[in-house]
Amino acid sequence: MQHIRAIAIDGPAASGKSTIAKRVAKKLGYLYLDTGIMYRAVTLAAIVYAVNVDDEKAVNRLAESISIDIKPPSVDDNRQYDVILDGKDVTWDIRSPDVNANVSLVSSYAGVRKAMTARQREIGLHNPVVMVGRDIGTVVLPEADVKIYLDASVEERAWRRHREFDERGEGLHYDRILRTMQERDHFDSTRELAPLYAAPDAIIIDTTNLTIDEVTAQVMELVSQI
Ligand code: C5P
Repeated sequence: MQHIRAIAIDGPAASGKSTIAKRVAKKLGYLYLDTGIMYRAVTLAAIVYAVNVDDEKAVNRLAESISIDIKPPSVDDNRQYDVILDGKDVTWDIRSPDVNANVSLVSSYAGVRKAMTARQREIGLHNPVVMVGRDIGTVVLPEADVKIYLDASVEERAWRRHREFDERGEGLHYDRILRTMQERDHFDSTRELAPLYAAPDAIIIDTTNLTIDEVTAQVMELVSQI
């Protein structure tokens, strides 16, 4: 197997993946890629271009045709990066409740996964990377040096999302966030293609009662052992 320099971080929504990965990538000088962005961008494109999300063939075609760029942040509003869909800044639009409610369905389509996985693998094979998602250690980069699976109770994860929405001035009910998250967890882990699960060689970290610093330290310790 070709040797690549990659850290794979998988886990359910709001388990701390992106925050931790971003810090670890910075410390290592690696690229950071949150693959959820790509599935969110396809979902947003379907909504904006009025493609029926239930029409698998049409969504698959859409996934192959759109351009998704991820760039360093150009606006100081707490964003980690700019997400550009067909030339338009959609950094916050991809986090909307509408996208949250439809992204799992869109991500379950074979054509969507094929198109996104190919883009992700291409990046992973050519750059030292910390890549975050649901299937990075199992499907996208099974040859990753370190595989980590971050988890936390669904209630804690829903509170984290609730705080994030609050900070952006978008008050959403905790119960609604919790319900959507439970549905998304279920859909993501029971789908046929690339379901969410910890790779057999992944280290599982439960972040429920840990601070960001504590989780980062644990991950850096694992990375230092390779
Ligand atoms: O990580 P985030 O919550 O932004 O991901 C949004 C959705 O994208 C997930 O619920 C999942 O359905 C999908 N996803 C995926 N595979 C990945 C990353 C995300 O199916 N590697």
